[in-house]
Amino acid sequence: MNTVTNESVTNESVTNESVTNEQENPMSMTEPATTSIESSAPSPIYALQAVIREYQQKNRNVRALAGVDLEIREGEFVTIQGPTGGGKSTLLQMLGALDRPTSGVVKLGEVDLAKASNATLGHVRATEVGFVFQGFNLIPTLTAHENVDMGLEPLGLSGTDRHSRVAEALAQVGLAERADHLPGELSGGQQQRVAIARAIAKRPRVLLADEPTGNLDEHMRDEILELLEGLNRDGLTLIVVTHDSAVARRAHRRLRLEKGSVREI
Ligand code: ADP
Ligand code: MG
Repeated sequence: MNTVTNESVTNESVTNESVTNEQENPMSMTEPATTSIESSAPSPIYALQAVIREYQQKNRNVRALAGVDLEIREGEFVTIQGPTGGGKSTLLQMLGALDRPTSGVVKLGEVDLAKASNATLGHVRATEVGFVFQGFNLIPTLTAHENVDMGLEPLGLSGTDRHSRVAEALAQVGLAERADHLPGELSGGQQQRVAIARAIAKRPRVLLADEPTGNLDEHMRDEILELLEGLNRDGLTLIVVTHDSAVARRAHRRLRLEKGSVREI
């Protein structure tokens, strides 16, 4: 599962067929991250029912998700805590259209990701979901600008549009001045800002983060938290897996995932 990264996501081809259905449905339209959600009651962005994900490990069957029912609303900031092996990363993969459940329903808007074609899943990853990982997952030989630009590859934008979106995303994370720096020339906190810029440049509906502050000291953690909170205030739905109770305290809603089952805390 650790082989799934944004890099693999950007290699997905996107077909127009998968786009058509979703655009006809207002529930699944892509909202820019800056859209205010105050004008209408928040609608569910995710609706999960009886989600089971089993993995085959040698001749053992491991149930990573054991029947998850969960609704997440547009604009929420949700954290997911729980012990290692509890199923947190597996759940994020379901939410991020990186994998399908063994059974159950994973609705993002009106689209059931459990039943969607590979092309639709690729389109969802390219346009609706931003990912941030503990280890930043930047390409060391590319500059900050080039790393952010990679996330836009599947969108088929013009060079000018791409350039301005990258510049805007880097400015949003406070790194406009560092566009030409390589990851190795940046602090951990700055590298994670680049990764966040890469995730938001596509203007996703939701940001999924798996231990985004796990490799950072307290000071950098607080910087990243403030940045994420700012994005959430601007309307971006935030789902963050964390071991850090300082992160979880800032959330609107805290979930615990243990032995494949979710509960509210
Ligand atoms: P967490 O992120 O909470 O630590 P994971 O979702 O990574 O938990 O893992 C949940 C369970 O599923 C663990 O028992 C893990 O070993 C198993 N698992 C996760 N991914 C795979 C995989 N690709 N193949 C086999 N087993 C897996
Ligand atoms: Mg994990």
